[in-house]
Amino acid sequence: MCGIIGYIGQRNPKEILLDGLKNLEYRGYDSAGIALKNENDIQIIKSVGKISILEEKLNHTKLIDSHIGIAHTRWATHGEPNEKNAHPHKVGKITLVHNGIIENAAELKEKLQKEGVEFQTTTDTEVIAALINYHYKKSMEQALQKAIKELKGSYALAILSDDEPDSLYAIRCESPLILGIGEKEYFVTSDIGAILKQTRNYVLLGKNEIVHLTSNDYTITKNGKEIKRNVETSSLTSEDADLHGYEHYMLKEIMEEPVLVENLIEKYSNNFDLLPDLKKYKHIHIVGCGSAYYAGMIGKNFLEDDGLKVDIDVASEYRYRNITYDKDTLVILISQSGETADTIAAMRKAIENKVDTLAIVNVDGSTIARECTYKVLIEAGREVAVATTKAFILQVLILSLLSYKVNKEKEYLEDLKHIPQQLKVLLDKSGYYKKLADAIYTQEDVFFIGRKVDYAISLEGSLKLKEVSYIHSDAYQAGELKHGTISLVRNGTIVFGIVTDDEIRDKTISNLEEVISRGANPIYVGVEDCPYENKIIVPRVHKKLQPLLVVPALQMIAYYVAYKRDCDIDKPKNLAKSVTVE
Ligand code: GLU
Repeated sequence: MCGIIGYIGQRNPKEILLDGLKNLEYRGYDSAGIALKNENDIQIIKSVGKISILEEKLNHTKLIDSHIGIAHTRWATHGEPNEKNAHPHKVGKITLVHNGIIENAAELKEKLQKEGVEFQTTTDTEVIAALINYHYKKSMEQALQKAIKELKGSYALAILSDDEPDSLYAIRCESPLILGIGEKEYFVTSDIGAILKQTRNYVLLGKNEIVHLTSNDYTITKNGKEIKRNVETSSLTSEDADLHGYEHYMLKEIMEEPVLVENLIEKYSNNFDLLPDLKKYKHIHIVGCGSAYYAGMIGKNFLEDDGLKVDIDVASEYRYRNITYDKDTLVILISQSGETADTIAAMRKAIENKVDTLAIVNVDGSTIARECTYKVLIEAGREVAVATTKAFILQVLILSLLSYKVNKEKEYLEDLKHIPQQLKVLLDKSGYYKKLADAIYTQEDVFFIGRKVDYAISLEGSLKLKEVSYIHSDAYQAGELKHGTISLVRNGTIVFGIVTDDEIRDKTISNLEEVISRGANPIYVGVEDCPYENKIIVPRVHKKLQPLLVVPALQMIAYYVAYKRDCDIDKPKNLAKSVTVE
């Protein structure tokens, strides 16, 4: 999400930076900006909205002659997406762009304000610029080293100093940033795809290594000592280039979730007429396979809370059951591809029985999209990784919106607005998920427990983990584990407790305590803090939105566990993306 491109060399940077920004657009952003620099001046131009608006503005501005520039697409986390908050930010002699989130920004800001520093924006990024400027006496390297010690969170930074006419600095921690090497010119970017037209040679940067670029050389230092790193040559095919700097599609697709969720929210929240009205049906059947079935199970919980009569089944069972259809029945078919063989058969059975059908699919024009009475597209774009992530989240979002349309609870819409932002913040904590993955990747068995909607979430969390990491994992209704499977719990067995539903929170915690007394090592996932050491706490939102913040965290854990186990993450053995056989 969001992106950086920087240039230093012999050429005028405007076109290179604009082209780079266009290549970063897919990551999602709300505003953009550019800084150009020469010996005497620095010129900053920003705009809200599309890159084309920035381009237009640049074309109508007299630009300084320059051979250095930094550019940015912002996806706001701290402060509104307006022009003032867009990057680059300049404080004193320091101008910079930033991807990521500074977790202790408020604390640092207060400290700097006591030293007399004044702030123009509410961004965490301005705090970084102010902090570096505060520490800047003579040497940029020293100022950066001091700042790094104080910054907490994730950041990729491209930095200019008024005092250095031929320098560009860069650092990264948790957020991606690479150095591109050209002929007497250098680039920094969060995504190799943004510079592939200029060069295929690049250097990977380690955490908190300080890169100093001039127009004819570069150095990388850490704690004052120079580091030598190999120049690698990318052999990207066009499909790989599509990875946009991520090592795997699974991670790329998880990272796309906030933007995709935001797009769907924008489309439907002012226009619920676009969605079918489920109130008119006396009975709803939800049918899917694998993750789509679990998305359906989350939906069943929402719709039952609305007072509707809902049944759910996996498509391969549903198609062969003897079902007596009530007159006003709607069958909801969920499938990413819209070509899942069993789900198609279930749909045809419903059609033969003359009941209405609703497709929740990704691929328009697919069999299920074409043949159902109604269709709602989840608009996930192409999902390449076999294990679904973004499509699952969007299926859940559609079910949540359908459920809202039944009951129109007031607080829902207010919470809905904040979901993309909250999701982004959660996904930015990759360091934390990696740490949890360290505790899991050597396990033989992992269990997930939860009740009601938390049970459905457990099923998906467990499936994701076993699909990509090949660790045996199972999900149980929290009350059910002790009726048998608890015999498998040993000293150190990881048990995830999903606890987002307040009504049954205490019950699930008691079940978690039961396994802890038998040696289990719990990972608590909830909305309220708890005394357990390993935990994921997500913001409390309306019940019908809560899974949208919990499941992505479990997807991240599955990804990092598989990564540690060196698995073929995007193409797990024995699995296919679209299951077109029975
Ligand atoms: N946290 C910064 C902001 O809100 C940077 C966001 C981004 O990564 O674009 O301005």
